[in-house]
Amino acid sequence: MIRPDKEHPETLGVATQAVHAGNAVDAGSGAIRTPLVMANSYALPEDPSELSWSGFDVPLYTRNTGANQRALQEKLAHLEQGEDAVVLATGVAALHAVFFTFLRTGDHAVISDVTYEATYRLFAEILPARYGVEATFVDTSDPEAVRAAMRPTTRLVHTEVIANPTTRVCDVAAIAEIAHAGGALLSVDSTFTPPPLYRPLADGADLVVHSLTKVINGHGDAMGGVVVGAREHVDAIRSEAMVDVGGVISPFNAWLIARGAITLPLRLRQHLASAQRVAELLAAQPGVAYVAHPGLPGHPQHGLAGRLFGGRGHGWMIAFALDGDADLQNRFVADLRVVTSAVSLGHDESLIVHVGTSGARAAYWPEEFRRYGHLRFSIGLEDADDLIADLGAALATVRA
Ligand SMILES: *Cc1c(COP(=O)(O)O)cnc(C)c1O
Repeated sequence: MIRPDKEHPETLGVATQAVHAGNAVDAGSGAIRTPLVMANSYALPEDPSELSWSGFDVPLYTRNTGANQRALQEKLAHLEQGEDAVVLATGVAALHAVFFTFLRTGDHAVISDVTYEATYRLFAEILPARYGVEATFVDTSDPEAVRAAMRPTTRLVHTEVIANPTTRVCDVAAIAEIAHAGGALLSVDSTFTPPPLYRPLADGADLVVHSLTKVINGHGDAMGGVVVGAREHVDAIRSEAMVDVGGVISPFNAWLIARGAITLPLRLRQHLASAQRVAELLAAQPGVAYVAHPGLPGHPQHGLAGRLFGGRGHGWMIAFALDGDADLQNRFVADLRVVTSAVSLGHDESLIVHVGTSGARAAYWPEEFRRYGHLRFSIGLEDADDLIADLGAALATVRA
């Protein structure tokens, strides 16, 4: 057996990695935590004329690299078991970095037809109209639909593991095989399925993207994004999307997210257990039109989710609606006294947002989402009993 050693995070279990990876004694002060370094420039060598001003290997300027980016990147690369990681200003900056770095005019991309809104808009409007990148939207829970959409010019396949907002699950290994057979990269937005719940790289994904704004930071007080993958790909993103386009993360946000990520494995256990309980409870309530959560036996990919996530859980995101109109959904949300009505997800506090049925991408949502709209519900770290009591009371109010 290899003796665990915090100097070698690859020898550690995931909870120990979350604590120690990317943290080091500060040589200057002796502090045992990586300090927050807000300086945007670093001391130059005696002869700087040999430095590459657009390089990212030595600290030079915070748009190229910096102490807190490096610390967070190291932690996240270990947690995701990837070769390298690059952190950026937001989750969307990380998605853009992948699309910008790996797609050229004339290239084609196969994109999940259910994704985060910005991904949809980039491929439905901005990238085709301005940059001549073609995209086909497909149901990625059906690998044959992905296969049928592949073209000789397909360079990228992109999907979410659990899709925002419908909670549809896709078989990453099956899609990776199809993408690679066609000479394309597979990028996966794994924001709803962070490690240790799932690691898409082990199933063949080339690039894993997370919005760090969500559960990896987990405290709702910083924005960030990450791309994890092979060093060659990550370096290409650093060189083009970070140094030259500039969507760099602030050192303070990187520091906050590294601090939040320490408790990710621990928090995730509570998020996942509470979400399962709340989903089952909601599904059994009269007056609830539908509940979408991969942990429910009636979910279309319940079996696949069990295989992918190995019984660790099925995510902390639920989409559901009450049997009624938009006004009823709004009155229900307004009556909640523990759950907060706000966007974002994966925070310590439970968040709910009522999303209606309009907008171009709603055409791709299941029938019940288009009929009732949906309440996108992120289960937080409160006592599950309090959440259940709050939901039950608000349901009783609107049904009275
Ligand atoms: C929130 C989110 C993003 C975008 O992240 P930001 O940090 O808000 O830019 C991307 N993908 C998914 C699945 C998300 O939920």
